[in-house]
Amino acid sequence: MLRVENLSKRYVTAGGPVDALREVDLVVESGSFTVVLGASGSGKTTLLRVIAGFEVPDSGVVTLDDKVLTGPSTFIAPEHRNVGIVAQDGALFPHLNVHDNIAYGLRAKRTGGRWRRHSTQPDQRVEELLALVGLEGYGNRSPNELSGGQQQRVALARALAPGPGLLLMDEPFSALDAGLRVSVREEVRDLLAGLNTTVVLVTHDQNEALSMADHVVIMRDGQVIQAGRPDELYHRPADLSTAEFLGTAVVLPAKVLVGSGASGSVEVECALGAIIVTDVQEVGVRESARLMIRPEHLMVSPVGSSGEGAEGTVGAVNYYGHDGTARVELDGSQQEMTIRVKGSELPKPGERVRVSLSPDADVRLM
Ligand code: ADP
Ligand code: MG
Repeated sequence: MLRVENLSKRYVTAGGPVDALREVDLVVESGSFTVVLGASGSGKTTLLRVIAGFEVPDSGVVTLDDKVLTGPSTFIAPEHRNVGIVAQDGALFPHLNVHDNIAYGLRAKRTGGRWRRHSTQPDQRVEELLALVGLEGYGNRSPNELSGGQQQRVALARALAPGPGLLLMDEPFSALDAGLRVSVREEVRDLLAGLNTTVVLVTHDQNEALSMADHVVIMRDGQVIQAGRPDELYHRPADLSTAEFLGTAVVLPAKVLVGSGASGSVEVECALGAIIVTDVQEVGVRESARLMIRPEHLMVSPVGSSGEGAEGTVGAVNYYGHDGTARVELDGSQQEMTIRVKGSELPKPGERVRVSLSPDADVRLM
């Protein structure tokens, strides 16, 4: 298990101090795939560099399997941490062939005096690693004779060469074009799951985070905002900017009619009628609140159909094949909302529809 406690790091720059990490806490279970998600500049690379031992924090403790790596009076050198890293640019040594790039990962471990995990010979180990990343027979190629995806897999093999207890990956797929990215992601995820490696991957790409992670940690301005399972964060984001970072959010003004008391649920009034919102923190009666709803939790049906909700007029629609989105403006309000529907059920611009919440809707009070 990796444990990061109270980590802070300030850079002093010509433009003034920058707090890259502010009291960051993080727990990564052994064998889990954790993705740290944050916009550019949120502190992701700094966090990985501190864990890897390339950066010394101003305060805080980094522990791996109960061994302190960085602490008030401890600093273990990077090559002795048993931590592998795939850097943001994935940089392979251009003058070394694929075999030697991977073997370098082994040498780095051996000069640290701790290369003991593998009884096999280095050449044999390189062959094993090439097979692992699906590049058998590529040992003699030079990095510039490989595709972006192949280079990324070599960088991964190099990081895995010494059998690290923890693998860190810094935006490893950002240089790949969109078509390739999804398939390389899946391959890497399956490969690492097979090895039962503990992984911390950082990215600014929410799709990558939601699709790859067991556990997602959201960072903003050097702070951890929220951590949890991908579906928890998507449906129960801590705040609106997290909600919008993770996907499309429909925000409706609302009034809290009945406060929560100890019940953990409130009754609110919004453009779609009166709604019970469950699982809330203590909330009192108030005039102005906001509801957050995901577009796939809203439904359209023909006008005149009975039931909950409100009527409105369809504006712009977007067809994506598997599904589509419609913008709907509700009658008597300026409230426009995005609704996600099956591709075959997409209404037409100008059509009159009834909008309601789907029965399983997860409505959040913000
Ligand atoms: P991310 O990887 O999420 O984009 P970084 O960890 O690279 O974020 O950077 C966090 C903040 O720290 C940014 O404001 C960045 O400009 C600043 N920063 C990063 N590295 C340095 C450095 N070596 N010197 C000064 N400022 C830095
Ligand atoms: Mg970065």
